[in-house]
Amino acid sequence: MSDLSKLTIAEARDKLRAGEVTSTELTQACLDEIEKADSLGAFVHKTPEIALKQAAAADARIQGGAENPMCGIPLGIKDLFCTQGVPSQAASAILDGFNPEYESTVTTQLWQAGAIMLGKLNMDEFAMGSSNETSTYGNAVNPWRRGNDDAALTPGGSSGGSASAVAADLCLAATGTDTGGSIRQPAAFTGITGLKPTYGRCSRWGIVAFASSLDQAGPMTKSVRDAAIMLRVMAGHDPKDSTSADLPVPDFEAAITGDIRGKTIGIPKEYRMEGMPAEIEKLWADGTDMLRDAGAKIVDISLPHTKYALPTYYVVAPAEASSNLARYDGVRFGHRASLSQGDGITEMYEKTRAEGFGAEVQRRVMIGTYVLSAGFYDAYYNRARKVRTLIKRDFDQVFSDGVDAILTPATPSAAFGLGEMANADPVQMYLNDVFTVTVNLAGLPGISVPAGLDGQGLPLGLQLIGRPWEEGDLLNIAHSLEDAAGFVAKPTVWW
Ligand code: GLN
Repeated sequence: MSDLSKLTIAEARDKLRAGEVTSTELTQACLDEIEKADSLGAFVHKTPEIALKQAAAADARIQGGAENPMCGIPLGIKDLFCTQGVPSQAASAILDGFNPEYESTVTTQLWQAGAIMLGKLNMDEFAMGSSNETSTYGNAVNPWRRGNDDAALTPGGSSGGSASAVAADLCLAATGTDTGGSIRQPAAFTGITGLKPTYGRCSRWGIVAFASSLDQAGPMTKSVRDAAIMLRVMAGHDPKDSTSADLPVPDFEAAITGDIRGKTIGIPKEYRMEGMPAEIEKLWADGTDMLRDAGAKIVDISLPHTKYALPTYYVVAPAEASSNLARYDGVRFGHRASLSQGDGITEMYEKTRAEGFGAEVQRRVMIGTYVLSAGFYDAYYNRARKVRTLIKRDFDQVFSDGVDAILTPATPSAAFGLGEMANADPVQMYLNDVFTVTVNLAGLPGISVPAGLDGQGLPLGLQLIGRPWEEGDLLNIAHSLEDAAGFVAKPTVWW
C-alpha cells in the first residue's frame, strides 16, 4: 500500500485497529520517504533500527487489543528533546557527541503509548530563531515553493525540521517546542497544524532549556484532531518539573464536537499592524466570517499592551537563556575546545563557548547577561517582568469579559526565502514573532491552523488563542475553522 506516510494519526489509528495496515508497514513507508528527502534537511539523526523495533512491539500490542491511539504511530522528534542513547544536540555544535543517559518526559510518554521514533529533527540552534538557519546542521528547507520559482524557502523556526517533515509526509506528526512562536510560525509557513499548550501542560523535563518560563512542548500535525490526540499523550503532571501542572488531562479529541454556536471570539484591534500585507488582512477577515457563519459571536477587543510584547520577550527570553546556557562549559556536556600549553579553566570555558555557540546564541547570551547585570537589572529585566504582567492582565480581562478565544493572523507574512534575511538587522527576524510571543508571555494555549494560500501559492495560517487549560475548547473552535477553511493543498514533490 502506497501513500501510507500521508495518513493522519486518526486515519492510521483506525486502519491499525481494523488490521488494514501494520505499524511496521507505516514505519517502513516513512523511513522510505525520509531516505528520499535528504535535500529537505529535516531529519538530522535517523533511527531506523529503533523505529522498526518499536513498530514490531506496537504491532504485537495492537494485536493484543491496544487501546492508545498513538500506538504504532511513526513520529519525528525535535532535536531539543533528550532521547536516551540518541544524539540530542539542540542543533548546536557545543552539544556535539552528546547522547543523553535519559529520556525526556514527553518522549517517554509517547513511547509508553506505543508511538515510534523515526529520528531527530532539525531546528534553530537552542531554538533561537525563526528560519531554521542558525542550526549547526545547516538549514531545513520548506517543501513549498513560490509558484514556478524554485528558490528555497524557510520552513520557519525554530521547529523548522518538524514542520518540513510533517508537511512533506516524512512522518505522521512531530514534536515541537514553542518559546515565542516556534511551533505556530513554522506550522503556518508549511500548511500544517501547530499547537502550543498552556504553560505547564507538558513537562519540560529532559527538553534542553531555552527560556524556562516560556518554553512549552506541543504537537505539530496534519490536522486539528491529530493535535488533540497527540497532546493527550504528551501532557500531564510530572514531579520532575515543578512548573508542570497537577491537573487531570482531559480527552481533548472528545472535546471536538463540531459545534461552536454561542462561542465568543475576540478580534484584537492591536494585531492590525501597520504595513500588514493585504493578503494577511483578508485571510483574517475571511477566518472571522467563517467562525461567524459557524455560529460564533464575534466581538472587537483591545489588548492594549501588545505593542510592548516583542521588546519584553527579547529581554526576558535572552535573560533566561544566558542563565540556562551557562552550563555549557566544556566540562559536562558535548564539545570541549582543544587547549594550548598554559591554558587554564578560564581559557577552556572561553574557547569552548566561542567555538561551540553560533552567532545568534552568542548574541542572546550577551543581551541576557547585560539585562541581568547589576547596573541594568531594574531598568531592563525587572521592567520587562512588570510589562509581562500587564500583557497577561490584558488577556485575563477579555477572558473575564466572556471571550472564549481570540483570532489573529499567525505570522505577518508567508514563508520567506532562505538567506533573504542574512544581512538584515536581527530585529527584522524578531518581527516574525509579533503575533505569537504575547501567548508565551501570558502562558496561554495557542494554535495555528492552515487557512489559505497567498498569491504565490504559499500557505498562510490563522492563530486562535484560548483560555488557560481550555485546550479542548480551543481545539474545538480550531476544528471548526479548519473545516470551514477546507485547506487541502499539498506541496508539489521536488525533493
Ligand atoms: N523566534 C523566537 C526566538 O528566536 C521564538 C523561538 C522559539 O519559540 N523557540 O526567540
